[in-house]
Amino acid sequence: MAVPKKKVSKSRRDMRRSHHALKVVAAMECPNCGELKRPHHVCGSCGHYDKREVVASAESSAA
Ligand SMILES: [Zn+2]
Repeated sequence: MAVPKKKVSKSRRDMRRSHHALKVVAAMECPNCGELKRPHHVCGSCGHYDKREVVASAESSAA
């Protein structure tokens, strides 16, 4: 089994883990319903994208 030749210093270990931090998820208000949604994603609450409904939501599918 491969074994590390030298102990990884705290500095090197922590520099490697700097990429492990959680990123802030971008959010914007939906132009249709005003709920927070991610840019370039279909709105989770009304199913709209690019000013039209692309995913049938609970209210509109009944009509
Ligand atoms: Zn919406």
